[in-house]
Amino acid sequence: MKYKDLSIFSGNPAFSSMLHVGHPNIGNRQRFLELMNDMLDRRWFSNDGPYVKEFEKKIAEYLGVKHCIAMCNGTIALEIVIRALELKGEVIVPSFTFIATAHALQWQEITPVFCDIDPGTHHIDPKMVEKMITPRTTGILGVHIWGRPCDVEALSDLAQKHKLKLLFDAAHAFGCSYNGRMIGNFGSAEVFSFHATKFFNTMEGGAVVTNDDDLARKMRLMKNFGFAGYDNVIYIGTNGKMNEASAAMGLTNIESIEEIITINQRNYECYRKHLTGIPGINLLRYAGREKHNYQYITIEIDEAEAGLSRDGLQQVLWAENILARRYFYPGCHGMEPYKSFFPHAGMLLPETESKASSTLCLPTGTAVGTNEISVICEIIKLIIDNADLIRERIRNQE
Ligand SMILES: *Cc1c(COP(=O)(O)O)cnc(C)c1O
Repeated sequence: MKYKDLSIFSGNPAFSSMLHVGHPNIGNRQRFLELMNDMLDRRWFSNDGPYVKEFEKKIAEYLGVKHCIAMCNGTIALEIVIRALELKGEVIVPSFTFIATAHALQWQEITPVFCDIDPGTHHIDPKMVEKMITPRTTGILGVHIWGRPCDVEALSDLAQKHKLKLLFDAAHAFGCSYNGRMIGNFGSAEVFSFHATKFFNTMEGGAVVTNDDDLARKMRLMKNFGFAGYDNVIYIGTNGKMNEASAAMGLTNIESIEEIITINQRNYECYRKHLTGIPGINLLRYAGREKHNYQYITIEIDEAEAGLSRDGLQQVLWAENILARRYFYPGCHGMEPYKSFFPHAGMLLPETESKASSTLCLPTGTAVGTNEISVICEIIKLIIDNADLIRERIRNQE
């Protein structure tokens, strides 16, 4: 597909350089370089260095949680906590999530059982979860999609009632709260990703946070090959360690976290103002009473009302150098190996299939300004106003 030909400005994109979703948020550059210099002088790059220790302490304080175990990425963090919790058999997860949530289970030969979502919240629906429980079920893995918390209470009740472990993939939800308490304090443990594209990044990185002392001790061993001291391996483990440069990035960014949230919230309010009233374009809202990181500007496109499909809108936006992104399309159940394992999974996942084909994320973060956002929204309005014409152009290209 030649996106360029779809530009509504006759081949001249509205933006001369590309606007991305998930461009990294960076705190004070000078501060980061100072930390890097000290690290080089110290020649201590990994293995529980001073930055990683300080980073873990700061994160635990920020979240009000007892333990933070920093790791090399969110996926390994998920794998380690899944193992530490001794999950096996089947675990109930949403299909409307990043593929790593499902892979972290399947990697250990645990079957991810995909559960449909509530169309209003995009989270696994506790009523559906209950229907998916079998004698082989050992746990529920909820995902705080877009940083908006899952129905933590209903899931906790369900886990208790059926004696299941409850774990949260909080990759999107750093800096967010549920009933006034920071995400990180719920279930047996919660997992963050600090990947470059996430709200808060350490370039690559992640962490498991928990209030459970035994679980924390076990995970500390597991992420360091099971070493309990020099030459003393007491457990099976892997290499899940965070390095010092990543921790330095985290220490830099945590100092600027409130400023980053302020910019993201400003961007969200700007989108909200300008997108209101465009037919068929519905912005996902953040509830005012909770803390949010506002990292995802997610719109749902109602094709009948907009006169254009989500994919049609995306193609024209790309032609204007606005790199809006589909997230979680076509859902984990539509990707291998799950597609082959469960070819009919989609029949139980109508809401997942619907959201996977109607949602789009728009550029935001500290690299995007409100002037740019106004232009993006004007272009979306122009596109929807001219939906008939655009549909015809797309058809002619196919
Ligand atoms: C990013 C992400 C992960 C994986 O984290 P990495 O740090 O990239 O390994 C897992 N789950 C969800 C929902 C994510 O968005």
